[in-house]
Amino acid sequence: MQRLIQQFIDNRWVASHGSRCLPVLDPYRQWQIAEVTAGAPADVEAAVTAARRALPAWQALGGEARASYLEAFASALSERRETLMHLSSINNGKTLAEAAIDLDDAIACYRYYAGQARALEARQGRLVEHDVDGVAARIYEDPAGVVGLITPWNFPLVTSAWKIAPALAAGCTVVFKPSEVVPLPELALTEIALEIGLPPGVFNLVLGDGEGIGAPLCAHAGINKLSFTGSNAVGERVMQAAAEGSRGVSLELGGKSPILVLDDAEIDQAADWVMAGIYFNSGQICSATSRLIVHHSLAEPLYAALGQRIDALRLGDPLADDTDMGPMTSVRQRENVERYLAIATEEGLTAVRDARHRKLPAQGEFVAPTLYRDVPHDSRLWREEIFGPVLCARSVVSEEEAIELANDSDFGLAATVISGDTERARRVGRALRAGSVWFNSEQVVMPEASWGGFGRSSIGRELGPWGLSAYLEMKHLIGPA
Ligand code: NAD
Repeated sequence: MQRLIQQFIDNRWVASHGSRCLPVLDPYRQWQIAEVTAGAPADVEAAVTAARRALPAWQALGGEARASYLEAFASALSERRETLMHLSSINNGKTLAEAAIDLDDAIACYRYYAGQARALEARQGRLVEHDVDGVAARIYEDPAGVVGLITPWNFPLVTSAWKIAPALAAGCTVVFKPSEVVPLPELALTEIALEIGLPPGVFNLVLGDGEGIGAPLCAHAGINKLSFTGSNAVGERVMQAAAEGSRGVSLELGGKSPILVLDDAEIDQAADWVMAGIYFNSGQICSATSRLIVHHSLAEPLYAALGQRIDALRLGDPLADDTDMGPMTSVRQRENVERYLAIATEEGLTAVRDARHRKLPAQGEFVAPTLYRDVPHDSRLWREEIFGPVLCARSVVSEEEAIELANDSDFGLAATVISGDTERARRVGRALRAGSVWFNSEQVVMPEASWGGFGRSSIGRELGPWGLSAYLEMKHLIGPA
């Protein structure tokens, strides 16, 4: 077992001020693989001090040099591919294929923001057209300052890349708090920061739980901007803390995304996309399409096709090549999902496939894939994020009803539309209140496009130029031309 009792501050691994330790577990083998210190507010203080000291020089370094560091991050992640996928799999319960997606999307993100760092540099000081003779304005985009970044456990490398890469590209310095549940991939990322020679204080990592590290980080007056990805319950606390210091905040929160199967869809193709939308990463994905809305003429054959595919899913060791679905990432998450299965029983929902009727692997925090049909729209399972392999289905009689039902949600992170007519699928997609809508496609994520949602899913956007803007302050200089 590894014992990791340090924080990474000012390019040094330093002893934490905290005395408690948190176990890091392998959810398949159900044993402890490491132990990390639950950091203390004094660790946050040291990290913010280091980040503030490093800020002026990092900003002054310029876009080209910052881009080189981001490219070095991407290359070093690629070189450690096998190690990182293994770490992600044993700490998170991801299959190797799922771990590869986390890693590849992170690499693409560091590369993309290297380009954005250069583009930012090139547009600094651009002239604004103005009709008053002799006076001109020039636009600059300055870094927001020292940023506090907080991430969840479900896609450790990619959720952190979507924050760290644009923040560094913008010229911000970083105090980063990863999830205490899955910190091992992030510790490997930190070793990379040291290896590529990032200047001291530019990237600091503080390990610990929400109370010990997260809350003090959000409350620290030396933090100019907070960016958080995680649950709505915690996100609201982060926003309150930001409000108290009048600090900027970006939030990426939960989802309850719909997948619409229109009456002209091809059943087998639709079934494959529905399966990937909900059972990928054991359903622990913010954009999981957990509400299936199907035209009534296709409902029975689609449920039958889904039932067969669910039966064929192989649950087991996430490190094994023949495993399709690994365990839930933690005991807590398994119990969360099981609570919803109990609510389904209380509500009298009808299961096409019921997790509790399936024999599970002998070890691991597994919940078997489940499909409920005819789920009432006021059911808690229809409305709340479960974050597990639980699909709720309803049939509808028209396209209009499908759109209305899809949009009847507090969330609006993602959606998928499946139709035999691509133009129709695109048109229906335009009518949906969601930040990412895939039509006749599986869920593909591109660093150039935006990430985030409507309603309670997000405040702000990540990825693309919008992801960079989140870490920039606009400034104009006006004077004699
Ligand atoms: P969580 O909210 O429990 O924890 C997220 C992070 O917040 C962790 O690092 C945790 O230690 C920290 N934290 C806890 N209490 C805190 C506090 N008081 N102040 C500051 N930080 C605190 O979420 P989770 O269980 O790790 O992740 C699952 C959730 O994340 C789901 O709701 C999912 O939808 C969401 N998520 C959203 C996106 C997105 O892009 N919208 C992506 C991934 C996950």
